[in-house]
Amino acid sequence: MISRQSFDAVILGAGIIGLASAYYLGLRGKKVLVLEAGGFGHGSSGACDDMILLQSKKPGINLQLSFKSLELYRQMVRDWADEELDFLNLGGMILIQTPEELTIMEEFVQQQRDNGLDVTILDKKEMKKYQPFVSDQFIASTYSSIDSQVSPFAVMRGYLRRIKQVGGLIRFYTPVKGIKRGSSGTWAVETRSGETVSSEVVVNAAGAWAGNIGHMVGEYIPITPKKGQLVITEKVPPVGKTNLWSARYMVTKLRPDLVQAEGSGNGIGLSFSFTRTGDGNYLIGSTREKAGYVKENSYEALQAVIRQAVDFIPTLRQVHFIRTIAGFRPATEDGLFILGEHADSPGFFTAAGHEGDGIALAPITGKILSEMVCGDSLGEELTQLSPNRFQPKEKIHG
Ligand SMILES: Cc1cc2nc3c(=O)[nH]c(=O)nc-3n(C[C@H](O)[C@H](O)[C@H](O)COP(=O)(O)OP(=O)(O)OC[C@H]3O[C@@H](n4cnc5c(N)ncnc54)[C@H](O)[C@@H]3O)c2cc1C
Repeated sequence: MISRQSFDAVILGAGIIGLASAYYLGLRGKKVLVLEAGGFGHGSSGACDDMILLQSKKPGINLQLSFKSLELYRQMVRDWADEELDFLNLGGMILIQTPEELTIMEEFVQQQRDNGLDVTILDKKEMKKYQPFVSDQFIASTYSSIDSQVSPFAVMRGYLRRIKQVGGLIRFYTPVKGIKRGSSGTWAVETRSGETVSSEVVVNAAGAWAGNIGHMVGEYIPITPKKGQLVITEKVPPVGKTNLWSARYMVTKLRPDLVQAEGSGNGIGLSFSFTRTGDGNYLIGSTREKAGYVKENSYEALQAVIRQAVDFIPTLRQVHFIRTIAGFRPATEDGLFILGEHADSPGFFTAAGHEGDGIALAPITGKILSEMVCGDSLGEELTQLSPNRFQPKEKIHG
């Protein structure tokens, strides 16, 4: 019975962010309980690509933290010799179709280089050396050797094992339905099955559902789901030397307003991502849709993803598509994730809102969260991520 025990921290959500948070809190000696509404990989961490992509990060805090997170992943590969993490460092290229895109990408690449990222622009001839199967419509590309990937499922499994090894508990199929602050300052977390757990600290790591958890304590957390649909191929030999994106991927991610203004993408925010898993299947995406919490794949989106893939890489006509995925990227209004303690709810922390970067940023998020909970002194720059930066549009009732 979890209700008879007390915990230093209760973490809500066992996605990659909740598990990373529990893992790093466990390393700091905290007794943790993770409560998860569904099963293993129920949320977006079980329905996504596998990229630790630095090229897509805006210069600033997201890029800085991505460097640190990649370093933590490399350390994980060294330290967790017993886990098959499928960590690969194939590098990445962003395909450029038009002179206008080239101008935008040259500017973006320069900003990233100024911020320490090793990335460059390749002309068509150089690009073809890496990507002989890509269609002739592309006039150039970027290239960065640092872009990497890892299996989100394997990382989550590794965190799970280690959380248990230090005495942490995890309960799947245990949705939280209410949170109250007691007079002694501790939090009482109530599950749908009627159990109540008390804890000094509550960590809201509920991804696209983090706003609902905020509501339970009267906090405004503006995170909305941005649906992404992917198609998976059978195992095939490598198609080119690196993983691929289109410059449109960057535009839909960084400037969704431009895509809407153009009326392109069929209203589904279509862009191109093409990554090879450690097993040899390709994950092909994707969409960025405002579709509420409707998780089903749609024929319209899958057709658009496949048509585009075959248009960009004609050899894919010979390949079978064996699975589809739909997941919810947890998106914030300003494109930065949320990490920190809520000023009006001491002991209540949020670690959520990573949109399309949660796999890349999970280790550094968990590590910083544990430092915040332990009261370490941290850099000023992290205030950009504070949950207190948002103003409620209406009164929230806890
Ligand atoms: C198509 C697609 C492709 C992507 N590709 C990449 C990529 O290549 N690289 C990258 O870095 N990121 C990528 N992402 C983004 C990444 O998947 C997310 O940022 C990340 O998984 C978010 O993790 P999380 O732990 O915050 O959320 P989740 O994994 O969604 O976990 C939140 C959990 O909270 C649980 N929960 C909700 N409500 C409650 C409750 N009341 N009680 C208890 N539990 C609750 C949910 O069941 C869920 O399991 C992609 C996303 C999509 C959709």
